[in-house]
Amino acid sequence: MKIDGGCHCGKIAYEAEIDPDKVIICHCTDCQALSGSAFRTVAFTAEDGFKLLSGTPKVYVKLADSGRQREQTFCGDCGSPLYSTDVGAGPKVYGIRLGTARQRDELAPKAQYWCGSARDWVDDVGTLPRIGAQ
Ligand SMILES: [Zn+2]
Ligand SMILES: [Zn+2]
Repeated sequence: MKIDGGCHCGKIAYEAEIDPDKVIICHCTDCQALSGSAFRTVAFTAEDGFKLLSGTPKVYVKLADSGRQREQTFCGDCGSPLYSTDVGAGPKVYGIRLGTARQRDELAPKAQYWCGSARDWVDDVGTLPRIGAQ
């Protein structure tokens, strides 16, 4: 499925070919810190399925406890996280941050990862009072 999106200020835009059956939620603590939220939702694409249309993201290389390095990209102006990818030579896998995709309503997650570090309240969100327009 073809998707497109970009950062909040509009300087960075991309398009990608993703598999909607492989959209996931990640509850790892790195995703919590890097997204500034409780979890992150990600769609994956291969290197040749991702195309930057405008702008140049800033890159932060995250070092995991396993020693694995991964580039985290974001807009240097508005701070929107855009995607992560492997360090060095390809073939790379891109993990697109779903909140930046225009088609995000169509991309419901199919699995959750790192549930051991999921926030205790995450399953209760559906029962919370709903405020604002539907
Ligand atoms: Zn921006
Ligand atoms: Zn994660």
